[in-house]
Amino acid sequence: MKAGEQTKIKLDLSMPVQFLKGVGPARAEAFAQLGVHTVGDLLEYFPRDWNFAPEAIKINHMRPGRTATIVGMVESIDYQSFRRSPIFEAMLSDETGVCRIVWFHGGYLRDQLRPGLVIAASGKVASYKHQLQMTNPKFLILGQKGPGATEYFSGGVYPATSQLSSRRIKRIIRPLLDNLAELVPEFYDKGFLRKANLLGRKDAFAWIHLPPDEEKLAKAKRRLKYDELFLMQLGLALRRYRKQHFSSATPCVCSDEIDSRIRRRFPFLLTQDQDGAIAEIVADMGRSKPMNRLLQGDVGSGKTVVALYAALLAVANKTQAAIMAPTEILAGQHFLSIERYLKSSQVKRLLVTGGLTGKKRAQLLKQIQGGAVDIVVGTVALLQEDMGFKSLGLIVIDEQHKFGVHQRAELRKAATPHCLVMTATPIPRTLAMTAFGDLDVSVIKHSPPGRGTVITRWVDPHNRQKAYEFIRERLKAKKQAYFVYPRIAMLEENGDIKAATEGWRHLSEEVFPEFTVELLHGQMASAKKQQVMAEFRKGKIDVLVSTVVIEVGVDVPNATIMVIEGADRFGLAQLHQLRGRIGRAEAKSYCLLFGQTDSEVAKSRIEVMTRCNDGFKIAEHDLRLRGPGELFSTRQHGLPDLKIANIVDDFDLLAMARKNAFELVSQDPMLRRAEHKNIRHALVAKFGSSLGLVDVA
Ligand code: ADP
Ligand code: MG
Repeated sequence: MKAGEQTKIKLDLSMPVQFLKGVGPARAEAFAQLGVHTVGDLLEYFPRDWNFAPEAIKINHMRPGRTATIVGMVESIDYQSFRRSPIFEAMLSDETGVCRIVWFHGGYLRDQLRPGLVIAASGKVASYKHQLQMTNPKFLILGQKGPGATEYFSGGVYPATSQLSSRRIKRIIRPLLDNLAELVPEFYDKGFLRKANLLGRKDAFAWIHLPPDEEKLAKAKRRLKYDELFLMQLGLALRRYRKQHFSSATPCVCSDEIDSRIRRRFPFLLTQDQDGAIAEIVADMGRSKPMNRLLQGDVGSGKTVVALYAALLAVANKTQAAIMAPTEILAGQHFLSIERYLKSSQVKRLLVTGGLTGKKRAQLLKQIQGGAVDIVVGTVALLQEDMGFKSLGLIVIDEQHKFGVHQRAELRKAATPHCLVMTATPIPRTLAMTAFGDLDVSVIKHSPPGRGTVITRWVDPHNRQKAYEFIRERLKAKKQAYFVYPRIAMLEENGDIKAATEGWRHLSEEVFPEFTVELLHGQMASAKKQQVMAEFRKGKIDVLVSTVVIEVGVDVPNATIMVIEGADRFGLAQLHQLRGRIGRAEAKSYCLLFGQTDSEVAKSRIEVMTRCNDGFKIAEHDLRLRGPGELFSTRQHGLPDLKIANIVDDFDLLAMARKNAFELVSQDPMLRRAEHKNIRHALVAKFGSSLGLVDVA
């Protein structure tokens, strides 16, 4: 397009940056590399740092030793080229006085400065021969229409590239700031802004790019963070609203009779926390809107029992239940525990494994479709494939530590099943409000009674032999042990990383030749895996050597020793999950962490592990050590990226944004009211059509 046409185009947030003055195809490409495509992106391309120049002062207020910015007229110039360091000198005056300005090696200035020009200069003030002087200041020739001095010396420093300097970016953003009133209209009424102590939206954008001072910058940041979190929470609130109001579920009603029939299946009394979770689930499932609940509880806290209760409630209401696990081993484990509880029950249950093929598989699928099977257990992948249910009333998704990876598949059916997601990773408050912000949460805090203590120790290399002897004593006493390795097989280039296959050979041949030592890893055939697990469970295997495949869901109370090789290579959450495999009976258990590391982060992880057994505390340490970015990406959850807010540091704003967003949706679910128009626009710009909002003008 030609330059002259630019003014005719109305600026709006969705306009490509290429239409802006100073941006051609090459710069547009360079901006694209930075993730900046539209005017809206550019306005949200926030500086990473800011400079503040003092406001220009009068010359008679200059004090030697301080820095100052002055604006004045060039009275005279002088270039002394004969000196060893040639200097260029200018006398600058305003209505209050005169200041001498000196540039060493300033020959190039002869072409730029001449008497009569008004310039701004910023630098350190000195006194030389009783006269005020500045040496090598930054300066700017002030044209009639040029930016003001303060503006030139201060402002944002942008993350730049070799093709786009920070200064260039600043220059391209600058004109946008004159159009903020139309570009970023206010979201909230004045009363709310005052009450919440929030800056206006227009000022916030102006000041984040060009802050007059630190205080105003802080205010701008606060407002922009709030908006970012508010829009995110609004997205979650709307997603939740849609789920609840546009899909219907089969109500699964509970009665005293059903309740006691289910409870009779368990050989123990349920804990108070289990009862609490069940009460919440029963209330949810009794409605004709689908349940969306997260059940959170440490490994071994008794979640499976709660899930089975829900499954049996679905079955009692003549619907089917599907229980999905992340791995085959875990699915098998779930199936086994369910079998234990359901011995001699009429409820038809079925484990679907990958080994199931051909005719046999077709036959079983047919049974599921015909409604002859009540409870189906399998991996997420298997259950998604081609399985049709006659009437699926409940889906249980167990994701153990891998939280956030579930695809909460929206089945487009007449009735949406109730959904229960289980996670063994305690979710810090921040994540409960973001990644899981559209789910209701039930928490099992206290594990069932009768759990032994677990003692955790770091074993450095020269104590390895001693540790083996200690383990030998426990094995002799008929206890069992896990040895977990970071990887399956040794890689040439990584000879120092402990690998399960080599470890197994070493342990079975040299360290514990008198015991049965077996290997288990994810790449073994499914039947072989099941067999090894079954033998370990029966006590026929003393030492189980494995990779993290046992991380999830193995329940062998007689295994009281967990050795983790290369422990410095595991994350905190993973270490805690692994440790959760032991301490499942009254006997004392031992978690031995083998490894060697110079990394401070690895050391602090180990330190947390030896000191702390509480999953919630460990999760918080994890969040702090790794930062929220690594632990969860907003993208993964279908949420827009956060550009300025941080869910850990800005927790208070997050909580406020969440409360207000959910309130707004309860009052005006489709954001149809006129006063919510600007919010709706911004929301559609961020989320696209995924929220089902139509952006009518
Ligand atoms: P999770 O799924 O949370 O890891 P599980 O439901 O598998 O935990 O329970 C762990 C162990 O605790 C199982 O052996 C189970 O039989 C036992 N258990 C569960 N609930 C209770 C209870 N209320 N009282 C005693 N033992 C229980
Ligand atoms: Mg479990």
